[in-house]
Amino acid sequence: MEFDDDVALDTSQVQDARGVGGRVALGGGGLGIIGLIVYFVLNQLGGLPASVPLGIDGVGSGQTLNSGDLAKECRTGKDANTKDDCALVAIINSIQGYWSDEFARSGRTYRQATTTFFSGSVNTGCGGATADVGPFYCPADGRVYIDLTFYKELRTKFGAQGGTFAEAYVLAHEYGHHVQNLLGTSDKVRPGTGPTSDGVRLELQADCYAGVWANNAVNTPASNGRPLIKSITQQDVDQALDVAARIGDDFIQKNLGSGQVDESQFSHGSSAQREKWFLAGINGGNPTTCDTFGTRNLG
Ligand SMILES: [Zn+2]
Repeated sequence: MEFDDDVALDTSQVQDARGVGGRVALGGGGLGIIGLIVYFVLNQLGGLPASVPLGIDGVGSGQTLNSGDLAKECRTGKDANTKDDCALVAIINSIQGYWSDEFARSGRTYRQATTTFFSGSVNTGCGGATADVGPFYCPADGRVYIDLTFYKELRTKFGAQGGTFAEAYVLAHEYGHHVQNLLGTSDKVRPGTGPTSDGVRLELQADCYAGVWANNAVNTPASNGRPLIKSITQQDVDQALDVAARIGDDFIQKNLGSGQVDESQFSHGSSAQREKWFLAGINGGNPTTCDTFGTRNLG
């Protein structure tokens, strides 16, 4: 993917709290990915997973730390083309630019969600969290949280090829949860797991919303009227699909869990379903193609 060199970045959408919470030991093998998968739903059900320590040191929401550095470093798309952190800022700008326009088209108002980059641990409106839980969206404070070492884990633990667009897919999925929160979809989710559970439908819809953004990214104008993202290639899409395949419940159970596939424990959908719904979003290009709650055929 390529960014337009001359488009200004908005670093106010990102809070850089890395190095503030202090690093914690990462144990437990594949836990990071479980977090991406489990955290949101558990939180929706009214509590953090018991394994997440509460009351740890971290930044309180609303504090701004180190974000000045990002503002200095990431001024335009040119910086996004050369620096990884700035690419993430640009991606977040593009995702929110798209949803802001899309909400406006349907007579709604989009509320921006800040993404917090943290390292090790962080305090959130949903309680304390460590990097073990992976990237997540906290509905209580309306923020996305990510320890960027997760991207390295995707390559080292899950064998993903990685790449900027693979990283974009993860962020766009979390913003999909923000959209669901704003639309009230998440409120209607009934607890439970399994291949046709509401939790799985919510997750597959977030994948689909990520695809919808990807479809529209090169046509979403930034502040100066020009799109921030100039091109997304087939290779980029393949990177995202590669990640989707490696965070499917069956893949994780087989390769990072017990080795047995147990559909009754599905919380995010199988690899094939996650690929299917991301592609449905990309091909459809419209959130109405993401009716994972209405369909009888989740894939
Ligand atoms: Zn999710």
